[in-house]
Amino acid sequence: NEGLGSWPARRARKTPDRPALIHDDRPFTYAALHDRVTRLAHALHGLGVRRGDRVAYLGPNHPTFLETLFATGCLGGIFVPLNIRLSGPEIAYQLADSGASALIYGGPNADLVAEIQSDVRVQIALGERYEDLLRGAPADPIDEPVGLDDPCMIMYTSGTTGRPKGAVLTHGNITWNAVNVLVDTDLITDEVALVSAPLFHTAGLNMLTLPVLLKGGACVIVGGFDPDATFDLIEKHRVTFMFGVPAMFQQVVRSPRWATADLSSLRILTCGGSPVPPTLIAAYQERGLTFLQGYGMTEASPGTLFLDAAHAVSKAGSAGVPHFFSDVCIRDGEVLVQGPHVMSGYWGLPDETARCFTDGWFRSGDAARVDDDGYVFIVDRIKDLIISGGENIYPAEVEHALMTVPGVQECAVIGVPDDTWGEVGRAVIVGDPSLTEQDVLTALTGRLAKYKIPKSVAFTDTLPRNAAGKLLKARLRETFGREDP
Ligand code: AMP
Ligand code: MG
Ligand code: MG
Repeated sequence: NEGLGSWPARRARKTPDRPALIHDDRPFTYAALHDRVTRLAHALHGLGVRRGDRVAYLGPNHPTFLETLFATGCLGGIFVPLNIRLSGPEIAYQLADSGASALIYGGPNADLVAEIQSDVRVQIALGERYEDLLRGAPADPIDEPVGLDDPCMIMYTSGTTGRPKGAVLTHGNITWNAVNVLVDTDLITDEVALVSAPLFHTAGLNMLTLPVLLKGGACVIVGGFDPDATFDLIEKHRVTFMFGVPAMFQQVVRSPRWATADLSSLRILTCGGSPVPPTLIAAYQERGLTFLQGYGMTEASPGTLFLDAAHAVSKAGSAGVPHFFSDVCIRDGEVLVQGPHVMSGYWGLPDETARCFTDGWFRSGDAARVDDDGYVFIVDRIKDLIISGGENIYPAEVEHALMTVPGVQECAVIGVPDDTWGEVGRAVIVGDPSLTEQDVLTALTGRLAKYKIPKSVAFTDTLPRNAAGKLLKARLRETFGREDP
């Protein structure tokens, strides 16, 4: 097995007694991780999970997330992480689209699983049932041939079509991305990473957790992000490495503990997922902390551009230069990516896949310019994507849902600037005179994940369109896109 499923065994061979995961103050060594992963793989095999089968996981950050990922890899299966912020129907869609045959679930959204009546054959609740399965399973090695070109995981990312698409990432994609992180940051075996960004998103998993586990460091696994708790965790575990989206680092700065907390253990801070405001970089700089900035996308596993410590200040505002094993070019103003970390395609969507590649280059949908030294500056998004606190919102998906609300005749969703979240969604609606903002927001509750529901609604008589009837979003943003309408 050349894939991720072999990592715990390989680490257990080299560093059995070092801590791999720390959760609720309890450390798990690499030997213990390897033991639990092997048992889970046997248990899943006993329940009929075979090569190529999809195994979904729904739950907040927890060691069992990584156990499921590695155990699925041991069997040659495909791991499908689900976002815990999704609504019941959205979870049901991703389970059906991926054709998951097993689901491991827990946490605040466990109730949704009972509600959605999915066809998933094997359903394992975290907690006692999961632990019983592990106890009852053998721990002898599993030797399933898995190659770097075999699919490792399907990560869902919203799309312009209004339906989420599953990016299929191979073991090779994930491995090369981790190698890129190791080459471009000075990760060491003594690293202590704080994993409070969601593991079900590409960055928390692939830019932080997996590279650290490859290198033999320790990951402090935290169920959710809380700015004040972050300071306690840094001090208690002497955290050296953190990753967050700008909204997380922003909240840390605003905490009353920011000025006095002991941050002397921190060595590496990586920030990315959406544009990183220069004021944020400056605030950390004042505290003696240097931000590394990463730019990437789910489809590229995700690391693509990286701004290292040596250039963090002199090139502030830039997303950096390509990772070691990554190639980037700007064509017609758009960032195109190629490399061993770029996905081969979307799950079951050959036409969508073909549309996203030009001559073997993946089209990012982001506009950029390059300076004389080759540093890339992301200047805009060509696609309509809104990024709110690190979560992507595709207007098409929200507009789709809005059109089913009684009284809505026409609608458009745009992003407006927000101090805390970077951007939030605003719906602009042409509708019946009796329709209120509250009607609209109530109708969307439970149908869409909360973060996708617009934070405000504006009503208008007509939407600006060109002669061909195409909506002029730029015009709409001029009229309705300010922070306070
Ligand atoms: P995702 O699929 O969630 O990984 O989102 C990828 C998109 O996030 C990219 O195509 C960009 O639009 C945006 N993005 C990610 N990192 C950065 C960054 N450092 N600066 C600006 N935009 C970013
Ligand atoms: Mg995307
Ligand atoms: Mg994102």
